[in-house]
Amino acid sequence: MNCLEKKLQAVEDWSAQTNLYELHEVAAGVYVYALKNTADNSEPAHYLCATCFNNKKKSILQRKGKGMGGTYYICNECKAEINDHSNREIPPKQNPGTGGDEHGWMGS
Ligand SMILES: [Zn+2]
Repeated sequence: MNCLEKKLQAVEDWSAQTNLYELHEVAAGVYVYALKNTADNSEPAHYLCATCFNNKKKSILQRKGKGMGGTYYICNECKAEINDHSNREIPPKQNPGTGGDEHGWMGS
């Protein structure tokens, strides 16, 4: 196999890979590539880093944890952090029923 054929092979492999994934909006304005839900794939559902995907790299996003801001994923390839803020927790109110800012200095 010569050099050009190898290159063509790589391109074909990549386009075969891209067919398995589709752009997915995990939260408003936050995009990843997600494995398509087809009967003939045996891999568990996962997300790919969109930045790496566009650079023809297949980098699976790893779940980092969940915080107040939602679920965080990290790309170990480009160190991008993805924040799925669609499931963020609403912080409990500190002083319910105080009616907002009680130091109302602006009103005097
Ligand atoms: Zn990445």
